[in-house]
Amino acid sequence: MIVLGIESSCDDTGVALVNDKKEILGEALQSQEEQKQYGGVVPEIAARAHLEHIDELVSLCFKRAKLSLSDVDAIAASSGPGLIGGVVVGVMTAKSLALALNKPFVALNHLEGHALCARLSNEVEFPYLLLLVSGGHCQILVVKNVGEYERLGTTIDDAAGEAFDKVAKMLGLGYPGGPMIEKLASMGNEKRFSLPRPLLGSNDCNLSFSGLKTAVRKLIESYSPDGDIKNADLPKEDVNDICACFQATATDCLVRKLERAIKYFKQKYPNGHHLVVSGGVAANGYLREKLKNLGEKYNLEFAAPPIKFCTDNGVMVAWAGLERYRLGLTNSLDFKPRPRWPLDENAPKAAGAGGVKA
Ligand code: AMP
Ligand code: MG
Repeated sequence: MIVLGIESSCDDTGVALVNDKKEILGEALQSQEEQKQYGGVVPEIAARAHLEHIDELVSLCFKRAKLSLSDVDAIAASSGPGLIGGVVVGVMTAKSLALALNKPFVALNHLEGHALCARLSNEVEFPYLLLLVSGGHCQILVVKNVGEYERLGTTIDDAAGEAFDKVAKMLGLGYPGGPMIEKLASMGNEKRFSLPRPLLGSNDCNLSFSGLKTAVRKLIESYSPDGDIKNADLPKEDVNDICACFQATATDCLVRKLERAIKYFKQKYPNGHHLVVSGGVAANGYLREKLKNLGEKYNLEFAAPPIKFCTDNGVMVAWAGLERYRLGLTNSLDFKPRPRWPLDENAPKAAGAGGVKA
């Protein structure tokens, strides 16, 4: 069984071929350079870039896999949530191939791609506890099965990756910010500045990063003679220390809310044995280390996709598409791409979600 996956929901155009023996047969990925100068993603530029590259990436992927279009059993595309212009490009490509080849189409929720990716690289059984942290999302979920989720918490403002990107922008470190912050943080003193940990006392698993971001902004502004962040003059050492303090604080917020979620998870799902992290921020080595320790503390096995499959890619779409296809979960070609698409939308409202007591 071979599935083609197409990712185009943000600023990475990814294509991959995966089989049911968990082999990645071919892949091609282009992370858009076009966005870098803007310090974020400009939707129209992203959509045009997907359009520009997607056909050649599909061809390249098949060439690398030494396969032809007819070898494929199903075609999956990230069909939301995401920047709709880009999503439409991927979905139209997948639907056209499905129609021409007379093969099934899987309209994949992009978040399900992140959620199931660790099952490709690791032996992870349902149910498991998932921290999904990316440029656009920050959620704590129980993955009960393919298509079955219980959301325990979410950010009430910025996504975790967004916070890394905004702090990096304030420090003039370029986009995307996460990798650069992690690099500089490794040379900094994480104890130097004390930063706020929003929502820590709240009796739920929700997160917030905007207060932390504002505190970093004020700290940077304090280096400016006129209080304007643009004129802030920071010694290199201080930039490293700010990165280290921000990374440690953001990680601590995630770890503490996860700890609360773990207690709920262990009680409600005693047959669950894994703690999984995925999404772009899961590439962060400092966070991975802390989560591994957290798993050990609560006797949960920690699992994460390899670093290159944490940020958006075609492999996770192909794999999650395959997981759906083999259960018969395919979609008709009139599926409309969805800019918003909660992973747990069909789930009954979780009794524990708002009031997970620890
Ligand atoms: P995604 O939305 O899944 O493609 O992930 C992209 C996001 O992950 C961006 O916000 C990046 O800044 C963030 N990211 C990537 N690598 C790292 C890292 N090493 N540490 C923290 N954040 C990261
Ligand atoms: Mg993503």
